[in-house]
Amino acid sequence: MLFAMTCPVCRKPVEPVAVALTSKIVGPNATEVLCLACLAAKFKTTEERLLDAARRYRDGGCVRFKGLPL
Ligand SMILES: [Zn+2]
Repeated sequence: MLFAMTCPVCRKPVEPVAVALTSKIVGPNATEVLCLACLAAKFKTTEERLLDAARRYRDGGCVRFKGLPL
C-alpha cells in the first residue's frame, strides 16, 4: 500500500499522480515512491510525458487516476 510521502531523492512531497503512476508502472509493492520530477528522471522521460500517460490511464478508466487533477 502506498501512502502520501516524501520523495527519497529530493525530499519534496510526492504528488498524488506520482503515487498513482508508481503504483501503475512499478506495481503495488513498490518500496519507494518518487516525486514526479524524480520519476521522470528515473525513467528517462519528462514530467509532461508522465502526465500524458496519467491522463491516458485516467481516460482509459484506471481507478488509480480517477479524480486526480491532471
Ligand atoms: Zn523527487
